[in-house]
Amino acid sequence: MCAFNRNELESILKQRGLSDDWINIVLSGLPDDWSCRRKPYRNGEKCIFHAETKDPNEFKDAFNQELKDMEKKGKFDFIGFIFPKIDFSNTIFSKPTRFVGATFQAETDFMQAIFKEMVLFIGTEFQLQSARFTKAHFEGTVAFIKTIFFVTSFSEAKFHDFVLFDGVEFLGGVFSMKLNSKKEYPLRTPRFGG
Ligand SMILES: [Zn+2]
Repeated sequence: MCAFNRNELESILKQRGLSDDWINIVLSGLPDDWSCRRKPYRNGEKCIFHAETKDPNEFKDAFNQELKDMEKKGKFDFIGFIFPKIDFSNTIFSKPTRFVGATFQAETDFMQAIFKEMVLFIGTEFQLQSARFTKAHFEGTVAFIKTIFFVTSFSEAKFHDFVLFDGVEFLGGVFSMKLNSKKEYPLRTPRFGG
């Protein structure tokens, strides 16, 4: 079984500078003995989603299947997932979505993606490549907490509900963003669970 567990998640969140309070909030949503438990990828200790290196095509197939399973369960929970280059353009995330402690190793495209419900990027790292949220629609609460971006664009992205950017780092040269929201952006703790 995949060895990715609470302790590993905790150490990732610490590394990414999350406060103890946030780490406690995140971990309190998981059972004490939580671990991934998916089947290991090739001969490794981790599943294809938590393995550092993997074949992007195999990942894509496994991920598409995983999305279907998660949709049935009512949430997209990508805790600690390590994404190779991935294209989420035009993808509709119909359920609450959490990229807690996730890592994007390469270019990531959320162009015109629609997040129907809450989406959380907590301790998420986009490594040295661009993350595009151009024309993405965020219909529920959005929180980027201790998210590390290299180069990103939010141009023409629309935020329909509360937006929280807290402790977000932009390491790269380009950052384009025009917040376009019907509501104010109070610094509010988003609700977990669900
Ligand atoms: Zn795993």
